[in-house]
Formats: sequence, structure tokens, C-alpha cells
Amino acid sequence: MNKDIATPVRTRAILEKYGFSFKKSLGQNFLIDTNILKKIVSFADLTEDSGAIEIGPGIGALTEQLARTSKKVVAFEIDQRLLPILKDTLSPYENVSVIHKDVLEADVQMVMDEQFAGIDDIMVVANLPYYVTTPIIMKLLEERLPIRGIVCMLQKEVADRISAKPGTKDYGSLSIAVQYYTEAETVMIVPKTVFVPQPNVDSAVIRLTKRVQPAVIVKDEGFFFQVTKASFAQRRKTILNNLTSQLPDGKQKKEEILAALSASGIEPTRRGETLSLEEFGLLSDELYPHFH
Ligand code: SAM
Repeated sequence: MNKDIATPVRTRAILEKYGFSFKKSLGQNFLIDTNILKKIVSFADLTEDSGAIEIGPGIGALTEQLARTSKKVVAFEIDQRLLPILKDTLSPYENVSVIHKDVLEADVQMVMDEQFAGIDDIMVVANLPYYVTTPIIMKLLEERLPIRGIVCMLQKEVADRISAKPGTKDYGSLSIAVQYYTEAETVMIVPKTVFVPQPNVDSAVIRLTKRVQPAVIVKDEGFFFQVTKASFAQRRKTILNNLTSQLPDGKQKKEEILAALSASGIEPTRRGETLSLEEFGLLSDELYPHFH
């Protein structure tokens, strides 16, 4: 087997060979611990028939572990300076395609159609650039790509918010947006010492397993998310106050909002953070006719 990329010595040698300097603005914190990488890959439950999509391969530390455990790896990298490095470090692996694109701009579905012909089981596995964690995760979920799920490293604080349960301080519209599409769990806390350069924040790995159907079936998804966002606009306010102040013409529609709360069995004095996804689903369906 080839020498691992993700050891401190080999990583330093690669960076020196190419005179590479990290760009903080691109969230470049590379992993230099092979055991952590292997663990991340193990959470994805890949087989030799699986496909893997990576976002931000860097110098290929995670990419090579994915190449060894799956049939095909497609990696999106925004930084042109990394392309010749990846060509070199990943040369032993014939099952990797590096796509030079900002993943937020890319037509991921089209790339999947082109690259994963005949592969049904596809996971996203990544050590995400922290400045765009949430937009990347939301893009992958909202576009309803045919993936089994996502295993990714991100800021611990965002991991906590994504996997938070109702009634906790971290529970909010991000928890709901992600848990609507997936079952979310934090599977590992990661120390700063396994990165170069070390990030300023703590990190964690989350596993998002796509649900066959969304967690709640609602009349209008867009309105459901509008209601959840409105409900958390000011965390210390009651659900009634947030809805009247945030929904369009909410103040004039206070009676209708009260009726919808009552029909959903939700006390108007409760706070958004205590409502489950099911309750938000019921509530948005009751509110829907009054706002359309
Ligand atoms: N996977 C490598 C590792 O674990 O060592 C590098 C991870 S580093 C945290 C994030 C990577 O994402 C960098 O290589 C960076 O250049 C790349 N990146 C940043 N923004 C991106 C974007 N919008 N689209 C694709 N790649 C991006």
C-alpha cells in the first residue's frame, strides 16, 4: 500500500515541494492524522461498490482513504493551486476525479450522472471549509441529490446546532432545516491538534442519514421553513410574539395565529425552541390558509 498522505512528515514534504501557502479565506485546515481520517471514512459505511463525493480535497489526505474504500471518488476543489499537487499525490489511485469548481456553483447532479454510472450507493464525505459549512450542507440537502447521506467534519458549535433536540439551547431553525431531510448525529469530537494549521475553533464529525421521506409531510415546504425561522427570530419571545411580528401582516392576523396555535394544540406562551418538528408541521399547515 502507498504511504499515507496524512502524516505530519509527508504533509510537510508535499507542502514544501510545491511551496504551498494556506489560504485562511478558503478554510484550509488540512488533516494530518491517519487514524482520524480512517474513523471518518468508517462512519460512512462505504463498500467496494459505493461512490464518494468529497468537498475540498486539499492535498488528498481524505481522498486517498476514500479511494481505498470505495469504487469511485469525485472531489470538488476550488483552489487551482492544489490541482497539480493532487495530480501528484493521488497518482496511485485510478478511481478519483478531481473537479476544479466551487461546490456552491457546481451542478452536482450533473456531475453525479456523469461520474457515477452504475453506482447506486453514494455518500458525501468531507472535511468542510468552515466559512461555508451551512450553505454547502443545505445545498446538498435542498437539491435532493440521490445520496445516502453526509459524513463531515465541521465546527463543533455548528454540529451541536445541527443535531440539537427540542428544548435545548442549541435547537433552532438550522436543526429543523437539517433534521427535516435527515437523521442527524454527532459521531466524534476532534481536537485542534490533528490539523495544520490548527483552526481557532473546536471540531466535530456529524453523520446525516437521509430520510426516505421528510420528517414531516407539510402542505408547503417553503412556508414551513418560513414559520420555523419566524418562530426563532427572537429566542426569548413567545411563539405568538415571534409569529405576529415576523409573518407578513402578522399583527393584523393575531386572531388567526391564535386559532392556528390552538388547533395545533400549542400554547401561545411557549417558545419556539420547545416545539418538535411534528408540532411545527401541524402549525404551519394550520397557518397556511391564512397566509395564502
Ligand atoms: N480534505 C482536506 C483535508 O482534510 O486535509 C482539506 C480540507 S480543508 C478544511 C477545506 C478544503 O476545501 C480546502 O482544500 C479548500 O481549498 C476547499 N474549498 C474551500 N471552499 C470551497 C468551495 N466553495 N468549493 C470547493 N472546495 C472548497
